[in-house]
Amino acid sequence: MYAPPVQRLITELGKLPGIGQRTAQRLAFHILRTETEDANALADAIREVKERIVLCEVCFNLADEPRCRICQDPRRDAELICVVEEPGDVIPIERTHEYRGRYHVLGGALSPIDGVDPEDLKIAELYARVEAGGVREVVLATNPTTTGEATALHIAAALRERTPDVTVTRLASGLPMGSDLEYADEVTLGKALSGRRTL
Ligand SMILES: [Zn+2]
Repeated sequence: MYAPPVQRLITELGKLPGIGQRTAQRLAFHILRTETEDANALADAIREVKERIVLCEVCFNLADEPRCRICQDPRRDAELICVVEEPGDVIPIERTHEYRGRYHVLGGALSPIDGVDPEDLKIAELYARVEAGGVREVVLATNPTTTGEATALHIAAALRERTPDVTVTRLASGLPMGSDLEYADEVTLGKALSGRRTL
C-alpha cells in the first residue's frame, strides 16, 4: 500500500510497546512531514543510546561509563541495596528523596509462564554482592504485581539462607496492587519506602 521505506518505518514504529498499527501510521506520517534535521535528530538519539549506554557493572542500572553515577557517588550508603525490576524504577525512587542507598536492577521479574527464570535476571549477581559483605539491608522494591511479589519472596528466602545477618525488607503496602512502581506518585512511594517491613 505504501512505498517500501514508509512501510518499513510503520513496521518498526509498530514494534514499540503500546503503539498499534494506527498510531504507527500516524507517527510515520508525522516524521515524513517533519524537518529533515528533526527527523535525523530522532534517528541519532536512538543510535546514540544503543552505542553509548551500557549496564553498570555493579548494579546493572543504565550508565554511560562502566559504573553508573549512583555507584560512583561516595555519599550514597553502600550498606543499603534497593532491588528493583527495571532501570525505569530507579527514577521514581530517586524522586522521593527518601532513599540514600545504592540499587540493584534485576532486569525483570520471575515469571516461569513467560520463561523468565532466575538465571535470566541479575539475581546471582545480587547474591554475590550481598555475600561479598558490607551490606546491612536489602530493600526488595519489585513491583506490587504477582510476578514482582514472587520475585521478592524468592530472593528473600535465598538471602535468609545465604546471608542470615543481612536484614531483608519489602516496601510497605499502600502501593496499588498490580501496578508498576514506575507510575507510583512520590508521596505514596516515599511512604512505602519509609514504612518498609522486614520479611
Ligand atoms: Zn551502578
